[in-house]
Amino acid sequence: MPFRNPEFKIKVGVSSCLLGEKVRWDGGHKRNRTVKNQLGRIFEWVPTCPEVESGMGIPREAVRLMGNVRSPRMVGTESATDWTARMTRYARKRLRELAKLGVCGYIFKSRSPSCGVARIPVTAKNGKTATQGRGLFADLFMRQFSHIPVEDEDRLQDARVRELFITRVFAYHRLAQLLSDRLSQKTLAEFHKAHKYLLMAHSRKHETALAKLIERAHRYSPAQLKTRYTEPFMQAFTYKTTVNKNAAVLNHMFRILKKSLSEAEQHNIVKAIEDYRKKSVPLMKPVTLIKRLARKYKVGSLTGQVYLNYSAQGQFI
Ligand code: SF4
Repeated sequence: MPFRNPEFKIKVGVSSCLLGEKVRWDGGHKRNRTVKNQLGRIFEWVPTCPEVESGMGIPREAVRLMGNVRSPRMVGTESATDWTARMTRYARKRLRELAKLGVCGYIFKSRSPSCGVARIPVTAKNGKTATQGRGLFADLFMRQFSHIPVEDEDRLQDARVRELFITRVFAYHRLAQLLSDRLSQKTLAEFHKAHKYLLMAHSRKHETALAKLIERAHRYSPAQLKTRYTEPFMQAFTYKTTVNKNAAVLNHMFRILKKSLSEAEQHNIVKAIEDYRKKSVPLMKPVTLIKRLARKYKVGSLTGQVYLNYSAQGQFI
């Protein structure tokens, strides 16, 4: 697996107001420091404000969702102007542009009838309000790009959710790169091999299922393989890593390395894993040690592992 160019930033879509752009209905913004400053160091933003870009203007009448929770209409809160068709037309065009740009993730503004990804109120004809709706633009995005990781800024305040989102975006980006060329059994097997330990750290069940798919790859066409691999691969990264899962992966790698190591080196790795398990050192410590020794002894099955590309900030990139 080639190492990532540190200068290169992956493109991620974002609701414009989260970056501080004054695009809200009242002319304000919703700048979010975690998104703009912290995640902005890692990603290249592709900002979108669906309401402004579909022609609703600034300032504008606020909108809300009405009708059926699965296919609501977007209407003005006072005038009841129906913006649904206009927003849908705009969204289709913008989604084509986002696909061309190659966005690998999206951060939406929470609680918005256009951008919200969950728990958006939808008022039925009888006046009852359900809170399981999605913003119109976010819904179309998530239907069209069902494997692209999405989050909202509220959830991203949680460090664990943030780490997982970053890992998922990087994983999606690597997969998208693989799938942009003609897929063969060989390239997919190599890709899977490089992700083996990262997948195990998230979900052993998914890693096993994907490994079985690779064994049976000769039965499928490239298009079938692409579909069958993508779904469980991206699903695996919705599971969080834990200390126990990481320790199991580290021990697995240690067993592969062991016969090449001196006694002192073996002792250092065992101690680093044990210290990590007791939470007295960060994951970075045993990972860095294993990475260095795998390179020193040229253990090919480990040197190309994405799992060893663990950043000091705490994500697998
Ligand atoms: S939530 Fe979405 S539609 Fe509303 S101002 Fe922000 S980017 Fe625009």
